[in-house]
Amino acid sequence: MQLYSTNRQSPNVGIEEAIFRGLPPDNGLYMPEQIPVLPDSFWESVQKLSLSEIAFEIADAFLRDEIPTNDLRELINNAIDFDAPIVTIEEDIHCLELFHGPSMAFKDFGARFMAAIMSYFLEKSSRKINILVATSGDTGGAVAQGFYDVNNISVTVLYPSGKVSDIQEKQLTTLGKNIKAIEIDGTFDDCQKLVKEAFLDNDFRNEFNLASANSINIARLIPQAFYYVYAYAQLKKQGKSIVFAIPSGNFGNLSAGVIAWRMGMPVERFVAATNANKVIPEYIETANFTPISPSISTISNAMDVGNPSNFPRLRSLFGDSYEELKSKLSGFYYTDEQTRLCMQDVYKRTGYIMCPHTAIAYLGLKDYLKQTDKSISGVFLSTAHYAKFLPDVEPILSEALLGKRLEIPKRLSALLEKEKSATKMAADYGEFKAYLRLNAIK
Ligand SMILES: *Cc1c(COP(=O)(O)O)cnc(C)c1O
Repeated sequence: MQLYSTNRQSPNVGIEEAIFRGLPPDNGLYMPEQIPVLPDSFWESVQKLSLSEIAFEIADAFLRDEIPTNDLRELINNAIDFDAPIVTIEEDIHCLELFHGPSMAFKDFGARFMAAIMSYFLEKSSRKINILVATSGDTGGAVAQGFYDVNNISVTVLYPSGKVSDIQEKQLTTLGKNIKAIEIDGTFDDCQKLVKEAFLDNDFRNEFNLASANSINIARLIPQAFYYVYAYAQLKKQGKSIVFAIPSGNFGNLSAGVIAWRMGMPVERFVAATNANKVIPEYIETANFTPISPSISTISNAMDVGNPSNFPRLRSLFGDSYEELKSKLSGFYYTDEQTRLCMQDVYKRTGYIMCPHTAIAYLGLKDYLKQTDKSISGVFLSTAHYAKFLPDVEPILSEALLGKRLEIPKRLSALLEKEKSATKMAADYGEFKAYLRLNAIK
């Protein structure tokens, strides 16, 4: 498979180069030259396949020139070893739960697959790399868990001291082995600046094979198509048109859904649901793309993105045509107050507990369904387990809970008992570089 840059100013590359580079030199985004279409025979019997069988067929369609069948099967079986079940909340309203992986958020799909595929290529070429990640919360956790104990890769995660939740901090700082955490005395922007400086420091970058695990990496996008097709497979027998509602920030998740559709999956419509950072819903409405800077803080903070980085990908998936995009995509956005009321209402009526991000997807789905009289199976994506956002979720539901405490899954409560291990550091590049010289692998 060849990949082009959406800016069209950089040469095409193969998948291995696209994955290790992350971004093309012209600062566009890598996209496959062609989205492969899976044969009718696949779509006719897809309901008989497991998640890992579906994952294999999709990945193979992109990677068959680069990774032999048996290797790819093994890679997928190791990376995607958790489920993505559909839970029916109300008649024709289904939740696609994407939080059954190691960090209990959908980013596990991308991070686990990316780690497995990087490790595969490194093994073959006897190389080692050092991954640097700055995180404000969820990404770092998924990357740390995804790359944990993976051969030939060392990961250094930078996070702002006192600005991530307890659970998120423990997800970064309790793993050990090849995962190192640096607690920066500063903001998330300071963390990002340190990582950027290291990447711009060319000699240093080359000496230590620095790489990023950024969410715009093509290796994180492909595995997100798996669960859309798996959801379709589970709902196909109901014989209704399917609508997916996606709680969105950088729009990687939604782009992956559109890729699944381009591969031949029947979809009636995608609903882009956001918080106050309503750049894409507004674009769908008006054809004007106006980034919000700085981004607006909300209770669905993993979606606080004022300039969605996957926008060029989304456009290219619709042949750079606004009309095409608008014919397949609807957009809705919600305030924190609407999000809270929705979480309360759904809990009271159905007993189902949603995180704030998931609630926004639910709202988007319901609002879209009001606009159509077709018979539809509606799917809203749950991107994280509610317990990851306990300090917000518990007060919101406190009245409805009637004194009950929310249950915390063992995987998360066990984390809270573990000892944190992080290196404290000022936001100083000299210090950061000295640390890497001592701790990076070669
Ligand atoms: C990252 C994230 C999102 C946003 O996903 P995008 O692919 O950036 O649109 C939504 N919900 C949660 C919980 C997340 O961590």
